[in-house]
Amino acid sequence: MKPTAHRPKIAVIGAGWAGLSAAARLAGRADVSLFEAGKQAGGRARMLAGNQAGFSFLDNGQHIMIGAYHGLLSLMQLIGVREQDAFLRLPLQWHLADGLQFQAASLPAPLHIAFGLLKARNLLFGEKIRLLNDMHALQQYHASPLPDISTAEWLRERNVSRKLTGNFWQPLVWGALNTPLEHAGLRTLCNVLQDGVWSSKEGSDYLLPKQDLGSIIAEPALAFLAEHGATVHLEARVARLANLPDGRVAVNGQSFDAAVLAVAPYHAAALMPSETPAAVLSAFNAIRYHAITTVYLRYAETVHLPAPLTGLAEGTAQWFIHRGALGLPANETAAVISLSDLIGRLKPEEWAARVHADLKTLCPYLGEPLAARVITEQRATAAATVARTLPDLSWLHRRRIYPAGDYLHPRYPSTLEAAVQSGLSAADVCHNDCCGIKNAF
Ligand SMILES: Cc1cc2nc3c(=O)[nH]c(=O)nc-3n(C[C@H](O)[C@H](O)[C@H](O)COP(=O)(O)OP(=O)(O)OC[C@H]3O[C@@H](n4cnc5c(N)ncnc54)[C@H](O)[C@@H]3O)c2cc1C
Repeated sequence: MKPTAHRPKIAVIGAGWAGLSAAARLAGRADVSLFEAGKQAGGRARMLAGNQAGFSFLDNGQHIMIGAYHGLLSLMQLIGVREQDAFLRLPLQWHLADGLQFQAASLPAPLHIAFGLLKARNLLFGEKIRLLNDMHALQQYHASPLPDISTAEWLRERNVSRKLTGNFWQPLVWGALNTPLEHAGLRTLCNVLQDGVWSSKEGSDYLLPKQDLGSIIAEPALAFLAEHGATVHLEARVARLANLPDGRVAVNGQSFDAAVLAVAPYHAAALMPSETPAAVLSAFNAIRYHAITTVYLRYAETVHLPAPLTGLAEGTAQWFIHRGALGLPANETAAVISLSDLIGRLKPEEWAARVHADLKTLCPYLGEPLAARVITEQRATAAATVARTLPDLSWLHRRRIYPAGDYLHPRYPSTLEAAVQSGLSAADVCHNDCCGIKNAF
């Protein structure tokens, strides 16, 4: 295929955070058309449209970011969103109301964690030393060429106690990887800890959204795209792509120099050209997912939580967001249930009743909730499994189709940061190919 000398015409399919990142990166350098099947942009990280049931805002799921989300922070800068408007930035603090509690110390990494753990509450001194030793062993494993194993296997090998597993390792892995310990790849966990904890204190800060997710990324990104001459088509579901005889890509009857395919893998295979090899299709179809349930509750009373992010070691809900600490109405809370598929398919009122019961253990004075909203995303994130391999994209790249999405990050689990980084890098590879520039990837 000859490189295109003119400004390339590129379709971006899917306006989740990967597609929005790709489109924003390409805007101004290419003629961009963004196609989104839904009524709104944002994908799996979006504001819930419609009736807010009296809540200040509702997203499709409570999202928690960290300071190591450099791709996201640079995207926000590009589209003109100030971090302080979007997030409350807090030094790492681990607060299980019924268990381990510690805060990062004001020291450079990794001393901030080491000293924080030494001052932890609800652990014996020997348990603190044990946790620090395990953390050190994990750093050594990360630097070694040893093969990937499951986190559960590693915990067994190191004979980690039930208490330390339940108070630290399990909530960490469930929260960061949304994958059961038996399947969660230790390498992916190490990558998260390396970038999010061990290498920089700021990287381990929590970034808790103070606004709905639409205001943080989707709306400013769409405004940025409009300013930069991109065309956005909402409610525009793209059908199967086709390669034209001249090598261009046909998207819903229009021809483009290339397409960034930023849809989830369970949608991607159906969009690939009919001659796509079975091995490529099956690599996308083989990706497995886990659910996350978010329960929003609103009360007549203030919900007094002990920390902005309060956890429970023994509860249906793993984490509660103290909305009052974010400057939002203090009578609202959002509860996160990672891996909710392991519990089963409960009715919304059953989830709400369980989470209300959990919350009563922290705030016994609360009456019945005035309102409850339950959202279960069955395919919230791709499983971060042992020795996970990414689909081979070379066949698609040769046909100028560039997949992007949270499931394609070589090091990270399926997260917003993975989606943004994947979108940015797919945009660069696509643009370079269109302009005949060699890729450094
Ligand atoms: C409940 C929940 C909680 C989460 N919590 C966190 C968290 O705390 N921290 C974190 O970092 N991550 C979290 N995540 C993960 C994060 O939301 C995802 O990793 C990220 O949103 C994925 O973005 P994406 O752009 O790769 O894919 P998607 O968001 O799935 O975007 C794909 C887009 O493509 C569109 N599309 C599909 N088919 C077509 C078609 N044929 N034509 C046009 N458009 C199409 C879809 O409508 C969608 O908008 C959470 C996810 C969920 C669901």
